[in-house]
Amino acid sequence: MRDGYEEKEILLVMDVRNCKKCGKLFNYVAGPGICPACLEKSEEDFQKVKEYIEQHPGVTVATTAEECEVEVGQIRQWLREERLTFSSTEGSDLVCEKCGAPILSGRFCDKCKLEVSRGLSDAIKKPDAPQPVKKSEPGGNKMRFLGGR
Ligand SMILES: [Zn+2]
Ligand SMILES: [Zn+2]
Repeated sequence: MRDGYEEKEILLVMDVRNCKKCGKLFNYVAGPGICPACLEKSEEDFQKVKEYIEQHPGVTVATTAEECEVEVGQIRQWLREERLTFSSTEGSDLVCEKCGAPILSGRFCDKCKLEVSRGLSDAIKKPDAPQPVKKSEPGGNKMRFLGGR
């Protein structure tokens, strides 16, 4: 196998991007803009973190990051995406974006989640009450007659 054979021609026809993680050029198809190698590594990290949390109930994000050698930011991202859930709110160290209540994963607490979804359905729903029909004042026509002479 020759290294880098006809690489330039291939680059012209493919959507080639720099991997967001390692900066290496790769053929972009879809997804988060990470090269296949980093994507695989990320999946491995995810499984490792997931297992670690399952085996260590009550563990914190910081400890998990240290033990699994994964960035805290990455673990937080998985928590926000609700791919991961810690067994305690002290461990997840996450708060609701609306009211600041401690939560296990995601962006909002259960209460705010409900409020957000209710707010959305309210916005879509049309008001049931019929609009009051404006009655024209009987004086309106009279005024026009008076003004006309
Ligand atoms: Zn990469
Ligand atoms: Zn909340």
